[in-house]
Amino acid sequence: MAAAHISTLSSSLEKKSNILSSKILRAHLFSLSKTLRKPSFPSEPHKQSLICSSKNPISDVILSSRGKPDGKIVDINEYDDEKPREECGVVGIYGDPEASRLCYLALHALQHRGQEGAGIVTVHDNVLQSITGVGLVSEVFDESKLDQLPGNSAIGHVRYSTAGASMLKNVQPFVSGYRFGSVGVAHNGNLVNYKALRAMLEDNGSIFNTSSDTEVVLHLIAISKARPFFMRIVDACEKLEGSYSMVFLTEDKLVAVRDPFGFRPLVMGRRSNGAVVFASETAALDLVEATYEREVYPGEVLVVDRGEVQSLCLMRHPEPKACIFEHIYFALPNSVVFGRSVYESRHAYGEILATEAPVDCDVVIAVPDSGVVAALGYAAKAGVPFQQGLIRSHYVGRTFIEPSQRIRDFGVKLKLSPVRAVLEGKRVVVVDDSIVRGTTSSKIVRLLKEAGAKEVHMRIASPPIIGSCYYGVDTPSPEELISNRMSVEEIREFIGADSLTYLPFDSLKKLLGSDSPNFCYACFSGMYPILPREVKVKRVGNLAVGRCPTCIRIMSLTGGGKFLKEFKRIYRNDIPCKMRGDYDHDKETRAVKVVLTYRHGVGNSMIKSFA
Ligand code: SF4
Repeated sequence: MAAAHISTLSSSLEKKSNILSSKILRAHLFSLSKTLRKPSFPSEPHKQSLICSSKNPISDVILSSRGKPDGKIVDINEYDDEKPREECGVVGIYGDPEASRLCYLALHALQHRGQEGAGIVTVHDNVLQSITGVGLVSEVFDESKLDQLPGNSAIGHVRYSTAGASMLKNVQPFVSGYRFGSVGVAHNGNLVNYKALRAMLEDNGSIFNTSSDTEVVLHLIAISKARPFFMRIVDACEKLEGSYSMVFLTEDKLVAVRDPFGFRPLVMGRRSNGAVVFASETAALDLVEATYEREVYPGEVLVVDRGEVQSLCLMRHPEPKACIFEHIYFALPNSVVFGRSVYESRHAYGEILATEAPVDCDVVIAVPDSGVVAALGYAAKAGVPFQQGLIRSHYVGRTFIEPSQRIRDFGVKLKLSPVRAVLEGKRVVVVDDSIVRGTTSSKIVRLLKEAGAKEVHMRIASPPIIGSCYYGVDTPSPEELISNRMSVEEIREFIGADSLTYLPFDSLKKLLGSDSPNFCYACFSGMYPILPREVKVKRVGNLAVGRCPTCIRIMSLTGGGKFLKEFKRIYRNDIPCKMRGDYDHDKETRAVKVVLTYRHGVGNSMIKSFA
């Protein structure tokens, strides 16, 4: 059982909590309503196991007494070309006596959207109670924890985040007190103006306890002068830029909000007893036997109060930009997302690939699990049998002990096992949902050939990914994306496939028909609906590179000659937005200050031991 944070926050902080009665904890909680002190963390490496006991959003971290096993421990993701990762799933339940248990089940249905932390907040006798923890939903919660969360209303959250101590304090929902009460929030998305908002709030005295962008929402609510309460939420949301599907819980209301572009999904359903349920995907509604009613519309604020649902469309209405990657990869195939069946979408992607990139083959297989439905579509259209040529292990953990004699493609082999009986002597079409860095694809092709496949033809059920996502999906930097650096033919050669075809971008749009303009394709097209504000400058080889905050073109410090050649080698498909690059050596630290001045802005960074 993973350790969990347990906290209680009441609108009247003198009110007795029926859950936690320690005087020390009360004092701590009282201070929470005024100022949120910064937590301190031990400086141990993040691969240590951690347990935590804290009052969210304040976390205290204690090193686990669990010892590390002997031998070389490897994070298998280091060996893996990780897929883009969804960063969260949210749930809200109003009006059911088993709210926390239903929330727990709904979070379980959303587990694929985040595996590194989970939390539930309920309201009981006007007191907000919270349990959050690190790990899977089933690891954070058990019978006794759910017993500590009585109440008819609840919100919940599953989180994906980078591993490490910083994650503990970032596990949601966050709960905070403000002048007129308490509020809990769970957020799926990413705020592109987070740093600017945080700087503004800190300049005005706000003290932050987490590094999560969601915390700015609580501070904005606290300083808003709007009345009634849900207008504070609207007031706060109007200052946000980026993607957010959020649920808020107060002493008597549940509020669901979706950003004006509607990047991330949020749906509403109802149970037979009238309880209202919000969730990131319909799969969660199905599990708690709630009937799907509709989406929360982009820019809509839904307030549930005494069983009544009030819809307020108070935010501006640009053209929606729903994330197409939800259909390609993130969402469960049994979900309906943005009003479309994910299963049908993926099946159609496979059919398009079979029509537009046919090849003589004996068998169609999938890279499980996300490639399966597209492979079924390909096989059906091509009239070729679909078989399970790769078996995914569902029991693989995050870290493994590798023998001292290194095993080639260790991480991929732990996850995927080829079936020789399906592959030997066959011409194989293998369907995957996307290629990110290209390293996993090359390992998969090698596995298939080692298992006897005569030919391996790779079909990808998405267009090439050329850009990072700024709206709630963890993607590698553009420099790491193979499609940003290589042509399709070069990628084919790199991964060792006999042929390689991506889903054509135009065919994807054609499939979406009149809905096509309502989707975001920025990671395929580089056309960002909301431009990121911050300029990051990174060292890549002998280059300092960033992206112009306005036109998103690569910015680089070329310095002519050698640098220019290097730049052209790495960014052959990108048009630089370079105006001038300067750098300064710091003799003491040996770091180099890089200043990039471009058509649309300035980026600078200290880069250690820059050549
Ligand atoms: S950039 Fe890509 S992953 Fe991000 S919201 Fe747009 S389509 Fe989705």
